[in-house]
Amino acid sequence: MYDVVVVGGGPSGATAAEDLARSGHKVAMIDRDGRIKPCGGAIPPRLIADFHIPDDQLCARVTTARMISPTGRMVDIPIENGFVGMVNREDFDEFLRVRAADAGADRLTGTFLRIDRPDGTPKVIYRDKASGEERALDTRLVIGADGARSNVARAEVPGGDRIPYVIAYHEIIEAPEATATYDPGRCDVIYDGRISPDFYGWVFPHGKSASVGMGSMVREVDLKQATADLRAASGLADCKTIRREGAPIPLKPLDCWDNGRDVVLAGDAAGVVAPSSGEGIYYAMVGGQVAAAAASACLTTGRVRDLKLARQLFMREHKMVFRVLASMQNAYYKSDDRRERFVSLCHDVDVQRLTFEAYMNKKLVRARPMAHLRIGLKNLAHLMRLVAPEHI
Ligand SMILES: Cc1cc2nc3c(=O)[nH]c(=O)nc-3n(C[C@H](O)[C@H](O)[C@H](O)COP(=O)(O)OP(=O)(O)OC[C@H]3O[C@@H](n4cnc5c(N)ncnc54)[C@H](O)[C@@H]3O)c2cc1C
Repeated sequence: MYDVVVVGGGPSGATAAEDLARSGHKVAMIDRDGRIKPCGGAIPPRLIADFHIPDDQLCARVTTARMISPTGRMVDIPIENGFVGMVNREDFDEFLRVRAADAGADRLTGTFLRIDRPDGTPKVIYRDKASGEERALDTRLVIGADGARSNVARAEVPGGDRIPYVIAYHEIIEAPEATATYDPGRCDVIYDGRISPDFYGWVFPHGKSASVGMGSMVREVDLKQATADLRAASGLADCKTIRREGAPIPLKPLDCWDNGRDVVLAGDAAGVVAPSSGEGIYYAMVGGQVAAAAASACLTTGRVRDLKLARQLFMREHKMVFRVLASMQNAYYKSDDRRERFVSLCHDVDVQRLTFEAYMNKKLVRARPMAHLRIGLKNLAHLMRLVAPEHI
């Protein structure tokens, strides 16, 4: 009998399994393995520090973010006092899974099929990868950390089958040496309706390789063509393509992360990705932490309502940032005129500080009220078209 079976061994599942094992619980982590999670791999310093990510996991350190507007306006934002780390998910996820196993979690490789409850307590049924056989794990609780379009969420949690998402697509290419358009220490973020009518495109350096991609909710958008156009515009059309892959990015956290009984969700399975940026790795790992804390509390007290702690703990810390980012997406990702205005706003040093502090350290800084007021007024002026996009 396990205390907890964690379904999924990505950043959220591996973190939950590690935390539970470290706190002395009997835990199993099932991952189907064999597919590299499509991901730009950008992680903030707060993640590197809080989750003790060693230097050798970082394949690149980014010190500038370049915002590019529909008319080609470029704003370079230097990343002060630090860097954004880049990870390759095939190495990073495996590192997290090994760390969970080293902490004492049983690592199982196979595909989750369903949860049965013949006598009221859950049995997690999965197909073992090596033997092809169906196996059952008796457990007291289950953490569903099986990513976007989670089977656990769909079967167990109300609304788990209706999370809205962006489809993101990227190509991993062999990176060139530094060129006039490519810098191995710079992330490019492209706000242009021709690349994405409702999200953005990116070029993220990964040392020897780079991730070039975009996302959109609009089904008619040809993701491959948009990425080909982006590669051409970035001078990367002739680089060798290593992989082409896509996956959904959830857009809205579920209102409820548990089934009121024995299951709690974490990470993409709960819809937890930052609006505007699509940043999910940090929030998945925090989601794993809070799911583990909630499961641990529930196991100790026997109160199923303690499973709700996962969402409560998470929202207490991150609700405001999610709210601000959602209104930013609603306001500025609508048209090229708005995108132009957004990039124009990025010239403002206070906007740069505010957004980068929120990204790097996951805090909304309240230190400079006059700067906030000025940014707010500038925002309004742009949204009401009282100033031209080039007005900075
Ligand atoms: C193209 C793209 C680019 C992105 N770029 C970034 C970025 O630069 N920075 C950032 O922070 N975020 C980025 N994200 C988002 C980020 O990748 C996710 O938010 C993050 O991976 C979520 O972690 P997770 O552990 O919740 O889910 P996942 O990483 O999806 O892990 C889920 C795990 O569950 C396993 N699994 C699924 N179903 C089953 C099953 N039935 N049985 C057994 N195992 C199963 C999978 O094998 C996987 O290992 C990007 C996403 C996409 C699609």
